[in-house]
Amino acid sequence: MSDSSIRSRAATLALMFLVLFALILVPWGLRRQDLTETQKSRFASGPVLSLGAESKPLARIDQESIRVAVTGLQKQLDLSIDGPYQFRPVGSSKVLSRGDKLAATTVTATGSGLKIGKIEYAITRLEIVPSQSPSVWINGHEYRGTVRFFRQQGGSIRAINVLPIAEYLASVVDSEMPTSFGVEARKAQAIVARTYALDVLRSGEGNAEFDLFASTSSQKYLGFQYRDGSRRLAGESEASRQIVRDTTGIVAMFQGRLFRTYYSAVCGGQTTRGTAVFSDAVSALKSVSCEYCREAKLYRWESELPKAVVSDKLKEHFRGEGKSFDRLLSMKLASGQSNSGLEVPEFEVRDGKRSHRISAATLRRLLPPGKVYSPFFTVTENSDKLQFSGRGHGHAAGLCQWGARGQGLAGKTAYEIVRYYYTGAKLVQLQ
Ligand SMILES: [Zn+2]
Repeated sequence: MSDSSIRSRAATLALMFLVLFALILVPWGLRRQDLTETQKSRFASGPVLSLGAESKPLARIDQESIRVAVTGLQKQLDLSIDGPYQFRPVGSSKVLSRGDKLAATTVTATGSGLKIGKIEYAITRLEIVPSQSPSVWINGHEYRGTVRFFRQQGGSIRAINVLPIAEYLASVVDSEMPTSFGVEARKAQAIVARTYALDVLRSGEGNAEFDLFASTSSQKYLGFQYRDGSRRLAGESEASRQIVRDTTGIVAMFQGRLFRTYYSAVCGGQTTRGTAVFSDAVSALKSVSCEYCREAKLYRWESELPKAVVSDKLKEHFRGEGKSFDRLLSMKLASGQSNSGLEVPEFEVRDGKRSHRISAATLRRLLPPGKVYSPFFTVTENSDKLQFSGRGHGHAAGLCQWGARGQGLAGKTAYEIVRYYYTGAKLVQLQ
């Protein structure tokens, strides 16, 4: 047999292998890409994933879509679209209307449907599918992906942004943590935010229409960019997109499962045991000491409020609970300690006749904003004023964001940071 015939046999064999490879692997690949019915209806049928030049391919999990409620229930929303678009009923490819761009207009509810500008649509669930992403502006924020409007009973509307998880995370990283916190802290933030989002998705606990809120009720998500007065500010950056690419698919797991990776801004020296704050917290959210957040402005804080203001708020609160309460006479710690990470303190409040117990977390919610930053504080009375002295910002369960910054600057890696705040957690890269 001549060399050339061996080569040609080898080439034929190689070709056969290639064909076989294509026959076996391509359909398998397609099967893997096949989406379930529910995912299909959620999947943005328009824009493609656009995180820019990719140094490595994104994990498939990061390309799944997520539905984020970007507004509350409102009577009217502001809308504009910077490029070509289609309006479709949610879950359908039928085109109701199309245009090259849409100047600033409003979305309102009609008796039974939705109205965009002057045009009425006899449906309660409408989706904007733009041909370029980002291009849809809602209430001063521009979003990647598609936007859905859901008309609720009573005539209010909510806007839901549907986009790939990677694009969502690129904005969460910048929305939750500034660049000055350093790359490792921000990678830890990306991992924790991805885990949180995927755990909500997998648990199926989400609303029928959306998975997460765009606020700190879930995770802060500002979108691609937003207006602040006459300025336009970025909601994501090349740096945050790079963080998402570098951590693609990476999540924290505890006992082989995703879990709710709660996190807060500043723990103030000691994180809180997760179950003290959230009924669904897993035991990985232990109370750990954290001196890494020392440089945060709210590591320690002092504030004061007129007793009369606190009194009125308490009265209102107890009335809502069907209890009466007159003028506040005294307020003292009844259980827990402001420096303990095991429980959220409770206060005893007295008027002339009765006393009630109230959780420091409830007090924090009740009192005017910008006064009480966490449930970990003590109160002293000073004539007609109450003086608060506390530590940290937020509930202090799970990762401490300022602590992550401190650890990153001290040379810890993102993985070490995540494992520090979620005891026993393992980091896994999902495909
Ligand atoms: Zn801390």
